[in-house]
Amino acid sequence: MTVVEQTVVESRPMGDTIGIPFIDNAKFSLRNVDVFYSDKQAIFNVSLDIGKNEVMAMIGPSGCGKSTFLRCFNRMNDTIAGCRVSGSLKLEEQEINHPKTDVVPLRARVGMVFQKPNPFPKTIYENVAYGPRIHGLVSKRIELDEVVETSLQRAGLWDEVKDRLDAPGTSLSGGQQQRLCIARTIAVSPEVILMDEPCSALDPIATARIEELIAELSENYTIVIVTHSMQQAARVSNRTAYFHLGKLIEVNDTEKVFTNPGHQLTEAYITGRIG
Ligand code: ADP
Ligand code: MG
Repeated sequence: MTVVEQTVVESRPMGDTIGIPFIDNAKFSLRNVDVFYSDKQAIFNVSLDIGKNEVMAMIGPSGCGKSTFLRCFNRMNDTIAGCRVSGSLKLEEQEINHPKTDVVPLRARVGMVFQKPNPFPKTIYENVAYGPRIHGLVSKRIELDEVVETSLQRAGLWDEVKDRLDAPGTSLSGGQQQRLCIARTIAVSPEVILMDEPCSALDPIATARIEELIAELSENYTIVIVTHSMQQAARVSNRTAYFHLGKLIEVNDTEKVFTNPGHQLTEAYITGRIG
């Protein structure tokens, strides 16, 4: 992994986030992050650490900036015209936002699963094989077969698809498609999996299956999940971050956030008075 020189970032106060935004031995260290869409600011001076093997949930009312903030973690805001990110965003030693950072290996390290399952218009096998092939992770077909099988197993889908790997990915149910997208993400050996409302298009049974999977995956990956479901945040995460109008209001152990929030805005949201 290439280490790029540090971007010099002006030193600013860390914002007014309450709770436990900073931890030791972080996977991500984000400092003074601002995001603008043209001249409209969407994220205001957010500073936060995320731990290795942590599941971090991000919650807050619609439009508060959760997706915008999540997209900072693997430079997906680059794909939006007029979107500008500033601040220091470090993935361990690497400055994510540095102009010399190559987004292709970055996005292999930091994979993403979207709201709506989006398999490629290819076979189940090819959906998973595509990433390892383009990243040159395997050279022989037998190795590729192995990566495909292992990834589908880790995504909890292997038993359901092993006899029809040549069927189109889109022939699967919504929940299976989402697990296929998770398998596709895992196949390139990421360190982090970002999930933006991964269950919002799924029924309760498929949702429960994805939540079980998150618990299993958290043994090997850092997971950051945006969810509009407070129950889901409570079930799957170690810490929860509450956003309001582009500001990070509170971050704390999930149980604390839901039983004894420290800020009146967090309390208003979790008790259903806002959002
Ligand atoms: P959330 O995911 O919490 O619902 P978003 O990150 O999608 O919130 O949006 C945060 C703010 O940024 C909102 O005011 C939204 O309208 C604005 N926004 C999001 N995407 C764009 C975009 N592509 N162009 C301009 N404004 C955007
Ligand atoms: Mg969103």
